Amino acid sequence: MPSKPNQAFVLRAPNQAKLEPYEMPGDPGPDEVLCRTLAVGICGSDIHYWRDGKVGTFILGNEPFVLGHETAAEIVRCGKNVLHLKPGDRVAVEPTVSCGDCDYCLNDQYNLCPQITCHATPPIDGTLQHYFIHTAKYCFKYDSFNCKKNFGFN
Ligand SMILES: [Zn+2]
Ligand SMILES: [Zn+2]
Repeated sequence: MPSKPNQAFVLRAPNQAKLEPYEMPGDPGPDEVLCRTLAVGICGSDIHYWRDGKVGTFILGNEPFVLGHETAAEIVRCGKNVLHLKPGDRVAVEPTVSCGDCDYCLNDQYNLCPQITCHATPPIDGTLQHYFIHTAKYCFKYDSFNCKKNFGFN
């Protein structure tokens, strides 16, 4: 169970971002997980949204949104269809979610899906908040054995 209220780094207008209380995510759907944020990298796109209110054709609207999309997290709760994760697992979070149905998605090119969404791309909130919900299949469990074997550290 979440142990503290949610807070988020919310951007309301260019150069107007601050840490503030934020709505707690509800229960994860069947294929989703509730995550507790452990660390978030600051990307160039976060800086562009913060300073300029836009990145290319993506423009900050009237709705505030949460920055941050390069995320390490801990699983708090799993939807009923989620079998590869359990509470307490540490994960790397792929910030995009694709439709799963189009030709790109069905041919292992889901990064090209025309309906793709991404954390911290308006209107999708990012992960510079204590808690967030994400599609479980885009959360990759940290594995210290494979990390040591493949990269030489754990
Ligand atoms: Zn990035
Ligand atoms: Zn697709």
